[in-house]
Amino acid sequence: MFTVGQLVQPDTVEEAYRILTEKKDAAVLGGCAFLRMGSRAIGTAIDLSHLNLEGITEHADSFEIGAMTTFRMLETDSVLNTFFDGLLAEAVKPIIGVQFRHAVTVGATVFSKYGFSDLITALQALDTEVELAHGGRMALEAFLNRPYEKDVLTRLWIRKDGRRAAYQSFRNSASDFPILTTAVSLLAGQGRIVVGARPLKAAIAVQASQELGRMDLNSQRMDEIAALAAGEMTFGANMRGSAEYRRELCKVLVKRAVTEVAACK
Ligand SMILES: Cc1cc2nc3c(=O)[nH]c(=O)nc-3n(C[C@H](O)[C@H](O)[C@H](O)COP(=O)(O)OP(=O)(O)OC[C@H]3O[C@@H](n4cnc5c(N)ncnc54)[C@H](O)[C@@H]3O)c2cc1C
Repeated sequence: MFTVGQLVQPDTVEEAYRILTEKKDAAVLGGCAFLRMGSRAIGTAIDLSHLNLEGITEHADSFEIGAMTTFRMLETDSVLNTFFDGLLAEAVKPIIGVQFRHAVTVGATVFSKYGFSDLITALQALDTEVELAHGGRMALEAFLNRPYEKDVLTRLWIRKDGRRAAYQSFRNSASDFPILTTAVSLLAGQGRIVVGARPLKAAIAVQASQELGRMDLNSQRMDEIAALAAGEMTFGANMRGSAEYRRELCKVLVKRAVTEVAACK
């Protein structure tokens, strides 16, 4: 279990960032589920709950999602889930259980860039931007590829572009970490196929995505696209599965997700 010297509740994002960077042993608190797994000694714990960063707001062309929004909020938001074929709800639903999803937060998850993350895989299939207290606003892809730097993730922005999307993941058993995650989206000839938990962090299968956007889809074409995705991605091994197993799984999950997206067309 982690320990905390003092708890602060800043009234502005600027103050939260200042404390984080000025105090060497400071850390931001999300839902604390992951922090609880370790034994970190946090000198100053920064609680963001006075910053109005909890919740999902619909704008004319985007959704704004505060860093303190929980997975359960994503899962149950009736407006958000009328978009993208309920992709975000589908991605978080298999994670542990309802009580757990009431605690864990979007900001902590995306900032931590977990390789196994169901949510990051799904967000990458959408037009998602990350907003940071210091780093400003940038595409999720750019954020994921940046080296680590102390900052506070404040919001996500997802463009409401009407894309179709589907999510697939595979676990050894319910409530375990995923062995592989995939998200597929399609909008006006632009396809995106994302593969995560490889166990490396989620990435876009670039060639397969291009083929998905270009082609009239039938069963044979879907098999070819799935094989292309499995061929171009790098996979690794961990206690949950070998690289070879993940590559075979990738073909199956990508085909299933592409089939769902094609059926939505
Ligand atoms: C037992 C267990 C099983 C899990 N299984 C899965 C799974 O199957 N699939 C899956 O996708 N995920 C899984 N997760 C991860 C989970 O979904 C969350 O991503 C994770 O717990 C982090 O969220 P949190 O709110 O608990 O973060 P916390 O534990 O509060 O924080 C995690 C880290 O993020 C930092 N942080 C928090 N908020 C911010 C912020 N706004 N800006 C910058 N830094 C911040 C903290 O300082 C800390 O370093 C699992 C986690 C646990 C503990």
